[in-house]
Amino acid sequence: ARASNRIAAGEVVERPASAVKELVENALDAGATRIEIAVAEGGKTLIRVTDDGHGIPKDELALALSRHATSKLDGDDLINIRSFGFRGEALPSIGAVARLRIASRTADAEAWEIRVSGGTMEPVAPCTLRSGTVVEVRDLFHATPARLKFLRTDRAEMQAISEVIKRLSLAAPAVSFTLRDVSGGGEGRVTFSAERGDAASRMEAVLGRDFRANALEIEAEREGIRLTGFAALPTYSRGAAVTQFLFVNGRPVRDKVLVGALRAAYADVLSRDRHPAAVLFLTCPPERVDVNVHPAKTEVRFREPGLARGLIVSALKHALAGAGH
Ligand code: ADP
Ligand code: MG
Repeated sequence: ARASNRIAAGEVVERPASAVKELVENALDAGATRIEIAVAEGGKTLIRVTDDGHGIPKDELALALSRHATSKLDGDDLINIRSFGFRGEALPSIGAVARLRIASRTADAEAWEIRVSGGTMEPVAPCTLRSGTVVEVRDLFHATPARLKFLRTDRAEMQAISEVIKRLSLAAPAVSFTLRDVSGGGEGRVTFSAERGDAASRMEAVLGRDFRANALEIEAEREGIRLTGFAALPTYSRGAAVTQFLFVNGRPVRDKVLVGALRAAYADVLSRDRHPAAVLFLTCPPERVDVNVHPAKTEVRFREPGLARGLIVSALKHALAGAGH
C-alpha cells in the first residue's frame, strides 16, 4: 500500500468497530433487509458482513475499491441525506490495512468476487453467492503493528462492535440484524439479534424488556422539527452500559446540544450522577441542520439550536409530568 493510503486509512478505520460501522452502513445503503455480521477475535482476525441488498455489478467491483469512487453522490448534494456513504473511502481504506474480499451478485447477473491485500488488487473472478454482498475483512492492521498495539482486548473490541450494530439497528427496525462471534470456528455464537419489526420492538431488542416496560413514548413537533422515540422513567435502573441513542434524520449522532437537552429534561427528577436513558429521533428538513460526518463520529449543527433543545426539553418534561414525575 502507498503510505498515503495507510495514513488516510487510520482516520476511517481506527479499530474493528469502525470497519463494522462502514460495512453495515454500506449494506443499509444497498437496501438490505437482512444483515449478518460475523466476527472473530474482536474483529482483529475476521469481520464478515453479509447482506441481501442490491449488490455491486461486476464492472463496479474494482471501482468500489478505488479511492473517492462512490455511487452515492447525488448531484450537488454533498451529503446525500438518504444514504450514509458519500466519500468513497471506506473500502479502499480497509483494503489498505487488511485482506479484503468482496463477493457480490446483482439481481440479473452471476456472482463475482474481488480481493485486495495491503492495497494490491487481484482481478475480478467468478464465485458462488445467491444474492447480495459479502464483505470479508481478515487480519485488520496486520501490516501496521503500531495500530495493532492500540487495540484493546478481544472482549472490549467485540463490545464496541456490538454497540455500533445496536446503534445503527435502532434507526433501521425494518432490517434484521444478527451478530455472531465465530472465534471458535463453525457457526459461532449469536451475541445479538433483532428481527424485523417496528421502532418499539427494535428498542426492546436493543435495550431490553425492562427498558421498554419503563419507557414513555415521545412524539412532538415544533416548527418543522419532529421528535419521536422513547424516554425512560427516572425510576428505570439501567442495565445496559449505553443508554443514550440520539439520531438526526436517521443518522446516529453525538451532539452536545442534544445530550444537554436530555439532561435538562430530567434535571428535576434524576440525580446528577445518573444518566437519563432514551432513544430519540429528530427529523427535519436537511437545510435546517448541518451534518458533519467524520468517520469516527457524526456531529450536527442545527441552524436554530434553541429550537431542537426546546423541543426535547418540553416534550420529555411533558411526558414525565404526565407519568407523575
Ligand atoms: P461510499 O459508501 O462512501 O460510497 P465505500 O468505500 O463505503 O464508499 O463503498 C464504495 C462503493 O461500493 C459504494 O458507493 C457502493 O457503490 C459499493 N458498495 C459497497 N458496499 C456495498 C454493499 N454492501 N452493497 C452494494 N454496494 C456496495
Ligand atoms: Mg460506505
